[in-house]
Amino acid sequence: MLRLPRLQYLRPRTIAEATELAAQNPGAMFIAGGTDLVPNLKRRQFDVTTLISLNALPDGRRVEGDVRHGVTIGAGVTLDELAHHELLAGPFRALAQACGSVSTPQVRYMGTLGGNLLVDPRCNYYNQTYSWRKAVGFCMKKDGDICLVARSSPRCWAVSSSDSAPVALTLNAQITLQGVNGARRIPAADLYKDDGIDYTTKKADEIITTVELPAVEGRMTSAYWKLRRRPSFDFPILGVAVAIAWDDGVVREARGALGAVGSHPVDITPFLEPLQGKRPAEDLLADVAQAADKPSRPLDNTDLSHYWRKRMSKVYIERALRDACGLEPLGGRLTAQVTAR
Ligand SMILES: Cc1cc2nc3c(=O)[nH]c(=O)nc-3n(C[C@H](O)[C@H](O)[C@H](O)COP(=O)(O)OP(=O)(O)OC[C@H]3O[C@@H](n4cnc5c(N)ncnc54)[C@H](O)[C@@H]3O)c2cc1C
Ligand code: SF4
Repeated sequence: MLRLPRLQYLRPRTIAEATELAAQNPGAMFIAGGTDLVPNLKRRQFDVTTLISLNALPDGRRVEGDVRHGVTIGAGVTLDELAHHELLAGPFRALAQACGSVSTPQVRYMGTLGGNLLVDPRCNYYNQTYSWRKAVGFCMKKDGDICLVARSSPRCWAVSSSDSAPVALTLNAQITLQGVNGARRIPAADLYKDDGIDYTTKKADEIITTVELPAVEGRMTSAYWKLRRRPSFDFPILGVAVAIAWDDGVVREARGALGAVGSHPVDITPFLEPLQGKRPAEDLLADVAQAADKPSRPLDNTDLSHYWRKRMSKVYIERALRDACGLEPLGGRLTAQVTAR
């Protein structure tokens, strides 16, 4: 049985206290649901001396607002709550779909949105026990010097494996971070860095407090499609989020992002521009999907063949677009699609 290392566990009651504690304890990490962090700690993927729980902080579990004025979600809201939340049934449906597709019900009851946005990037050579990693000589993400996937690479290519991250980019979510030096509000895209180790712009003392989904003018639809080996359990090996704003059946704006094809969620919005000003006919959607898979560059460091994952990118982009346009997916309803209850 894998055991946790010896740790100091702190449970502050205010955000100010939590950020102060993080600043005073350089080896500390925040813990919310612990569903990503605890297994990683058991495998000694981090050297952590102190865990600072976010569970007792006020206001972390609120969901407020409406589609016309924007929706504010506390970072401590669980994935299960979001998967079924009525405020995510309309234009923001992609977020409910993404949260509802994470792992198993047990993980969704514990896992939070804040923790999901910050899932540690994954790799077959890293998400292993200490003794497994030692046997292969470790890698630069932890305890080693080289990348075992791309041996001459100066950087780590671990894969951004969060389901909500590409949706946050697509819905243009604004993330509020609170640290010892105050609060800042950034677009979701600015939370991420293209690096498998140093993957976020969040500072060690900063807590994600809220995720804001901006107000929607007129009609908007969105969808999230996820590829994985076991639909009841696994992390994404490809995630596609799209959102379309409509004017009387014509696309006003289309946004999109891919997950699990790089070390950060990849924006594909520029590739969706040909949809603007058009009524999306089936062949147009197919052409746009064909082109939008260009920035999808999966490596051989997660589940299934990376060549196949690349080929599936255009297929899943097309399915997500069709879903957002209210069309049936090609090839029938596949088990890989997830639907919020
Ligand atoms: C079997 C299994 C399957 C999984 N499948 C998936 C999957 O399919 N898709 C997926 O996306 N994830 C998956 N996960 C990962 C994880 O369960 C979820 O991502 C979950 O949402 C993480 O949330 P948490 O609250 O448990 O985060 P934690 O584990 O508590 O924290 C994760 C990281 O976020 C930081 N953190 C958490 N909250 C905050 C905050 N408010 N401010 C600052 N830092 C914060 C922590 O310090 C840590 O670095 C899986 C995990 C397991 C064990
Ligand atoms: S991509 Fe390379 S450095 Fe990063 S975790 Fe995998 S093997 Fe290690």
